[in-house]
Amino acid sequence: MLNIENLTYSYKTVATIYTYHFALQMSSGKIIGVLGESGSGKSTMLDLIAGFLDADSGSVKLDDEELLELPIEKRPVTILFQQHNLFEHLSVHKNILLGINPKGKANKEQLGRVKEILSQMNLSKHEQKLATELSGGQQQRVALARALLRNKPILLLDEPFTGLDRETRLQMLDLVKKITEDNNLHTIMITHEIEDCNLLADQVYSMKDGILKLDKSFSKED
Ligand code: ADP
Ligand code: MG
Repeated sequence: MLNIENLTYSYKTVATIYTYHFALQMSSGKIIGVLGESGSGKSTMLDLIAGFLDADSGSVKLDDEELLELPIEKRPVTILFQQHNLFEHLSVHKNILLGINPKGKANKEQLGRVKEILSQMNLSKHEQKLATELSGGQQQRVALARALLRNKPILLLDEPFTGLDRETRLQMLDLVKKITEDNNLHTIMITHEIEDCNLLADQVYSMKDGILKLDKSFSKED
């Protein structure tokens, strides 16, 4: 269970302070969709969960463990951005390996897992290419492959499928669903496509006027 309570963050500029408020609850194996206009504070929430921003107050608990007290590298989180997920000067192989073993040399078992995931995602023939030699859609598939191998309990998707053609996007969404269910992840997916929410989300939240609210019209019963 992921439980976010009274989480707040304020951007302070010379003239103004604007505070964002977040609260949500989700079980493992589920996907939450987050909608909201550009600038409404969606990415701010993911950055707080991942630890890129320090919250002013509140809590983010995964099965009763307070994540806000953990340094970034200890948080059980994988985050995927719209772009720039890969190290451009490294090969596909190396990019994926870094996701599971940031330090030192990979062992046989890890190398096997990299091969397996590349094959599952139809990326084997690109393994030795540099990230920059791939198309945008292929790069995002590599990033998703890395996220899958990391297998952290919380998967945060900050519009990573924006700009992909629809067919690729739908393939990626399928994978997200499969990854989430097979590994019992807690997946929070920011998107501006209502279709993504209809296809994937167990619950949908919207950011408006600085507050994250459950959109009851979307809730699925199961
Ligand atoms: P979204 O992801 O919904 O587009 P963000 O969470 O990125 O929105 O940003 C929320 C708001 O915070 C935006 O209005 C943005 O301009 C503002 N903002 C983001 N970063 C800063 C900053 N460093 N200083 C001041 N305001 C910021
Ligand atoms: Mg954003």
